[in-house]
Amino acid sequence: MTLQDPKVKALLAGVLALAFLVILGVGVSIGRFIVPPAARQGAEPAATQSEPGQPRTMLQTTCPITGLPIDRRFFVVGKGQRIYVAGRDQLAAVQQDPEAALRKLAALGQYAESLQTVCPVSGAPINRAYYVEYEGRRIYTCCPACRDNRVKPEPAKYAQQVAAEVAKTFAPAATP
Ligand SMILES: [Zn+2]
Repeated sequence: MTLQDPKVKALLAGVLALAFLVILGVGVSIGRFIVPPAARQGAEPAATQSEPGQPRTMLQTTCPITGLPIDRRFFVVGKGQRIYVAGRDQLAAVQQDPEAALRKLAALGQYAESLQTVCPVSGAPINRAYYVEYEGRRIYTCCPACRDNRVKPEPAKYAQQVAAEVAKTFAPAATP
C-alpha cells in the first residue's frame, strides 16, 4: 500500500472530507454557543435607537422662545411635558401656546422632559425603552405592542391622552 495506490488516495480523500465536516460542525455549534441570545433573536434594543431615517433627538437644552440655553428654574407644565425656558420672561409665551413651543423643540431636534407615568393604551406603568417621537415630545408606552399597534398610527390622539392624564396630577392650584 502506497500513497500512489488509487484506493489509498480515495480513502485519504474521504477521511479528509469527513474531518472537514466534523470541524465545520463543531465550529457552527461553538458559534451558536458564543452568540448571545439577544443578538440571535434580533430582539428589542431597537427601542432605544431612533427609527431608521429619523434623526436622533436629544432632551431639551434650548429655550424654544429665545434659542438660549435653558435655566432649569423656569419651566411650564403643558401637554404632559415640562418645557424649560431661559428665564422668567419667556414663561408667559410658553404658557399661552405649549404646542408651538414643543414644535419649536422638534425643529431643533429636541424633546421635552415628560411627566408621563402610565401607558396611554393600557394604563400600566411606562417603560421608557418604548416610545414614539411626536412633535417635541416622547409618548411612552408599557410595551412594544402598545407602541407599534396603537400609538405609532395615531400619535396625536395619544399625545392628547397623555396631556390629559398628566394634567390630573399636575393640576394648577385653584385660585381662591
Ligand atoms: Zn403595552
